[in-house]
Amino acid sequence: MAKNCLLVSAGWLLTVKEDRECREDWAFLIDDGTITDIGPRKDLNAKYSTSDKLALNEHIVCPGLINCHNHAAMKLMRGLGQGLNLDDWLHQAIWPFEREHLDAPNVSLGAELAMVEMLMSGITTFSDMYFFPETVASVAERLGLNIQLAVPIISLDTRWARGSEECIHRTLALHDLYRDHQHVSVAFGPHSVEALDLETLEKIGMYADELDIGIQIHLQETSGELDRALKNHGHSFVVLLKKIGLMNDRLQVVHTVHLTSEDKAILAETNANVIHCPSSNLLLGSGICPTRDLLDLGINVALGTDGSASNNGIDLLSEAALAESLIKGVAQDASVCRASNALDMATINGARALGLERQIGSLEVGKDADFVAFDTRHPAIEPMIDPFRSIISHSGARCISHVYAKGKPLVENGICVNTDLADLMEKAADWRASKAFREISERAYY
Ligand SMILES: [Zn+2]
Repeated sequence: MAKNCLLVSAGWLLTVKEDRECREDWAFLIDDGTITDIGPRKDLNAKYSTSDKLALNEHIVCPGLINCHNHAAMKLMRGLGQGLNLDDWLHQAIWPFEREHLDAPNVSLGAELAMVEMLMSGITTFSDMYFFPETVASVAERLGLNIQLAVPIISLDTRWARGSEECIHRTLALHDLYRDHQHVSVAFGPHSVEALDLETLEKIGMYADELDIGIQIHLQETSGELDRALKNHGHSFVVLLKKIGLMNDRLQVVHTVHLTSEDKAILAETNANVIHCPSSNLLLGSGICPTRDLLDLGINVALGTDGSASNNGIDLLSEAALAESLIKGVAQDASVCRASNALDMATINGARALGLERQIGSLEVGKDADFVAFDTRHPAIEPMIDPFRSIISHSGARCISHVYAKGKPLVENGICVNTDLADLMEKAADWRASKAFREISERAYY
């Protein structure tokens, strides 16, 4: 046993292992960032009496949350174009503003603000689709978060790259740079089918197969997108992606609000992963993803917050609670989803979607020690009926006291440890005083 072992005890431990049981008074041992033993607290206390201890005996402990879709730096653009539907929002508000104002230093500031918000709401791993991905990765590394860079590929010129060819080259270079990195993995992030030509999509599929890495793409987010696909191609974009060889278990399709029956069958038979972003879909007036149909077909459904500009907050527990409520409401049946299913979507399903299920997503021997602790001594939780229900619906981020990733503390007693919060707030205030921010506030619609 190495010196840097830590024995963590939990009043209620939600491992998210197959049985979905809550273990009362359990503990787990962390050795060099990995869980090496797990069991009843009294047994492990006796076995590892000399190791360092973290007593969370009044806490619910669950795996670190996994936010499978974000554009973190868009935190700076919160409010811009609100009240517009997706297509107008992108073309009239978001893309022109980005071209003008989102340079590397601003991306760094927006990403850090977003990451601190994520950490304080229990997120230990996230996927990010944004320009200057190397800048975003370096902030994540400093704060200790795990990140999948879904490197953006778009045919438009941006401040970061000129056209899709350069985006692909940069993705390949980043893949080389972060090969076997502890915290950073790289995937292709083609923005959407309509933002690229077919040849480029085929090329991305070929590289992704060769390198055995993921592809994350926005897909059939609005009814207009599906209508245009049917009109221009004679079939949906799901069918198109299957035809050109992109549909497989490394594909992460974001939104899929509008799907035909054939689309659902294709997603099931190819084991593609769906990233469900319920708040963003509702706020942009896009609709509701048929999540229950997808789950019934055995499709892996994970959760994303999407960027702050189309969500307002970055709180995955809220998304999990909303996803659960929408499933019940759409089915008009309160028995079709449980809080433990919602926690699955926020943890193990996310790990599966990102191809990281052997490392993260549940608390088991051999996996990374990524976990979140909720202090139950809080009016929002008491009287506690069920720990799963407490964290999904009753407490949310307010009761989070500790967040660890790879055995290292990232939030302790509610404080984010790897950032100088006062300095970050000063920089945020500078942004608030900027001309760019004035432009947002003048154009914001609430
Ligand atoms: Zn998005």
